[in-house]
Amino acid sequence: MAKILKQYKVTLEKFDPEESIIGSYPDNIGLRTKLGGHPEWIQGDETPICPTCKKEMSFIGQIDSLEHQSKNNPYSIDALSPDQEYMFGDVGMIFVFLCFDCLETSSILQFY
Ligand SMILES: [Zn+2]
Repeated sequence: MAKILKQYKVTLEKFDPEESIIGSYPDNIGLRTKLGGHPEWIQGDETPICPTCKKEMSFIGQIDSLEHQSKNNPYSIDALSPDQEYMFGDVGMIFVFLCFDCLETSSILQFY
């Protein structure tokens, strides 16, 4: 059976898509979740190609490892605690893409 994670409500705030909004490494770890703009790749550009039309897919958003143990992170949970659920590999991020023409989706996981 799949794991059911703690539930969080996400609050949205509008920003210019060219504006950097996630702060700088390493203080931003755990705080990089966002929609739109440009992906904040950890390991380099892996923008997927749509399997149907073979064009680059559009970046929809990224989901950070929310509970990274850090004094700057309001969602910080001790790394040794079983309560730390949102840890994707080694403080990774999941990047979500969509082809608006074909309605195909793709996600990429990158971590340290
Ligand atoms: Zn497509």
